[in-house]
Amino acid sequence: MSTSPQLAYVGLGSNLESPVEQLREALKELATLPLSRLLAASSLYASRPVGPQDQPDFINAVAALETCLSPLALLDQLQALEQQHRRRRQRHWGPRTLDLDLLLYANNAIDVPRLQVPHPQMTARAFVLLPLAEIAPSLNLFQQPLSAWLKRVEDQGLERLPDA
Ligand code: AMP
Repeated sequence: MSTSPQLAYVGLGSNLESPVEQLREALKELATLPLSRLLAASSLYASRPVGPQDQPDFINAVAALETCLSPLALLDQLQALEQQHRRRRQRHWGPRTLDLDLLLYANNAIDVPRLQVPHPQMTARAFVLLPLAEIAPSLNLFQQPLSAWLKRVEDQGLERLPDA
C-alpha cells in the first residue's frame, strides 16, 4: 500500500563482516527502495557495543528517506535488506551483519507488535542521536530539541569516521 510522500529516518548498524562496507552497501540499497528516495545519509560512526562487550565495535549511521511506503511496508523492505546481508542473530544485543531500525516516520506514533515508532531506544543512544543531528539538526523529539537529548548521552564514546 502506498501513501503520500512521508519523511522517515532509518538507523543502520553493523559489527560483523566488514561493517563499514556493510553500511556503505546498505545505504546504496536504501537508495533503490520502491516508492522511496534517499534524501540524506550521515557520516559513519564507531561505537562500543550495548550489552555484551566481547564483540567488535559497531559502525552506525542514519539515513533520511522520502517514502510513499506505509510504515509496515517500509519495515518489510528494511527486514528484506537485513536478510540479504545474511543477518545472523545468535543472542539479544549480540553481533549482527546489518541492523536497520525505523526510527521515525513523519510524526507518526505507532505501537503494534511488529513496529514501535519513534523507535523506543532512540533517545538513549548517542549512536542514533549524533548521526541524526548531522542530517536533521533542527528536529524535535517528544517536544524537546535534539540538542537536549544529545546532552544526556554525551558520555557515550562515539568516533566519527573520516569520509571515504
Ligand atoms: P532488533 O533486531 O533488536 O532491531 O529487533 C527486531 C525486531 O524489532 C523485529 O521483530 C521488528 O518487527 C521489531 N521492531 C519493532 N519496532 C521496530 C522499529 N522501529 N524498527 C525496526 N524493527 C522494529
